[in-house]
Parts: sequence; structure tokens; C-alpha cells
Amino acid sequence: MVEPVEKIWMDGTLVPWADAKVHILTHTLHYGLGVFEGIRCYQADDGTGAVFRLQEHVDRLFESAHIVGLEIPYSREAIFQGCLDTVRANGLKECYIRPLAYMGEGAMGLFGADNPVRVSIAVWRWGTYLGDEGLTRGIRAKVSSYARPGVNISMNRAKVVGHYVNSILAKREVVAAGYDEAILLDPQGYVGEASGENLFYVRKGEIVTPTAGGSMLMGITRDTVLTLASELKIPVRERPVSRDELYVADEIFLTGTAAEVTPVREIDGRTIGTGARGAITNAIQERYFASLRAIPAPKPEWRAPL
Ligand code: PMP
Repeated sequence: MVEPVEKIWMDGTLVPWADAKVHILTHTLHYGLGVFEGIRCYQADDGTGAVFRLQEHVDRLFESAHIVGLEIPYSREAIFQGCLDTVRANGLKECYIRPLAYMGEGAMGLFGADNPVRVSIAVWRWGTYLGDEGLTRGIRAKVSSYARPGVNISMNRAKVVGHYVNSILAKREVVAAGYDEAILLDPQGYVGEASGENLFYVRKGEIVTPTAGGSMLMGITRDTVLTLASELKIPVRERPVSRDELYVADEIFLTGTAAEVTPVREIDGRTIGTGARGAITNAIQERYFASLRAIPAPKPEWRAPL
């Protein structure tokens, strides 16, 4: 359960948590055309708070909106500032931040192009997404029977509300089967991504990740990990990945703002590598956590201070 905080940003105004409500004829609620972001704010080792890669998340929000033809009635600067203001207004140093641009009430029916575009920014305390133990011991994943939508079916580069039905179906399917997380293949049968994370595997000292574009979301954590891997001088290859490659990987990890860098210790009942967090996953994870909280910041440009 999300624990209520004080304020939520609704169309430019900070309102009390309990008042952040929408009308039942909110278009997005019926048809799913809205765009959103998932961002984290971290308290660094000196006690100060900063939002991680805020500019990149704001840029992706606007790109998502542009892709699906939603016009956000605020500037990027206003949304950037709105995120910082909402965290501050709630007195938080460490939290999750959820900007959402959605179509409000007005016309019903699919067209809805004249309905107002509304924006909210909510924040809440959120611990590890796949569990504390998952971060250290690794999680158990299963390839879902649901595939990712292919190119030209969904605009997968956009983080669209309605796209998440696919992710929820996959997640629920594998959780019902006793697993922690779902991996979705693309329509050609190559590995796409997890229900809310991108995927990387390690074999013989090299990192491999599915090629960008196509059926997956371009994760900002994925981009962070690509940067960290290059700093660590670990070779990375982006190319199509087949399911059986995962079974014989030395290490696998998932990346996402919520899940951070989470090792995978088992897929479809096959143990991955030694069944524990591997050395390269460990090195990437350490560097990832340092980029969030270490002082001095290894990459200050990735932190927007509160
Ligand atoms: N894929 C999907 C489907 C996601 O929902 C997310 C989370 N936004 C990711 C990948 C990872 O993206 P990011 O690293 O930007 O959080």
C-alpha cells in the first residue's frame, strides 16, 4: 500500500493528497492514452537529496507525449521544477516520483482530441521494487506467454499508460506460477524486456543486451548502465538476443528506475551461472548505487539537488 504524503501537484498547484481526484469521465481512464514517468529521488551520503537523471526523465515524458500526439500544456522547465517542488513540499529526501500527463473529461469516444491535457505529479516513499533480498541474492524470472507488442503495433518508445496492460498480464501470469518477474519476448521470439525493466546478460566477460528500438522502452537506467560499463571497460554488445542464450548466460540482471540493478538467479527453472549475484553484476550495481548516493557524486550532472 502506498502511504499517503501531504501534497500532490495537480495542473500546476500543490493540493492536499486527499483532494487529488479526477472525474470518472477522464478520457485516459477509459481508453489509456496518457504518458507517464517513474523517477527516483535519493538521499546522498551527506544527507542531501537529489533527483536522479531528472532532465532525462522529463525529456522522455515530452518525447512520449510527442509520439502519441498529446500536447503537454507546460514547459519542460515547469515539469522539472514541479517534480522538485512536490518532493520538497512533502519533506522527503528519498522517494519515487510519478508525473502523469492524461486526457481529462470533455468528449467521450476515441477521438477526444479537444479534451484538455492534464498533468499530475505524485510522490511516495517506495523501497526496493523486487525486494531487498532480490538486490543481493537475485530474483527468479520466467518467460511469459505474452509477447511485447511489435513495431508499428504500439509506439513502444513512448511510455504510454495503456501499454502497461501487456506488462500487468505478463507479471500476473508469472507471479501466479511462483516467479518474481516476467520476461517478454518480441513478436519474432527474441528477448524484449521484463515487465518493467530492461535486460542485460553476461557471458565470458562480455555484456549483451537486446538492440534498442523495436519492442522495448529505452530505459534511462539502461543508458546509465551502458555508461558505467564503458567506464569499467567491460565490453558491451547490443544485438538481438534469443531465449536460449539467457539459459547459458553467466549472469543476468534487470535494470529500471524502480528495480535499479537487480540480479536474476533463475529463468524458467534453469539456474543462471552459479545461481548467485555475479562479479560483473556486482561491479555494475556498486557503481550504480555510488552514482545515486556517493559523495562526492561521481557524475554530478546526473543529480538534480532538492
Ligand atoms: N521497460 C519498461 C516496460 C518499463 O516500464 C521500464 C520502467 N520505466 C523500463 C523498461 C526501464 O526504464 P527506466 O530505466 O527508464 O526506468
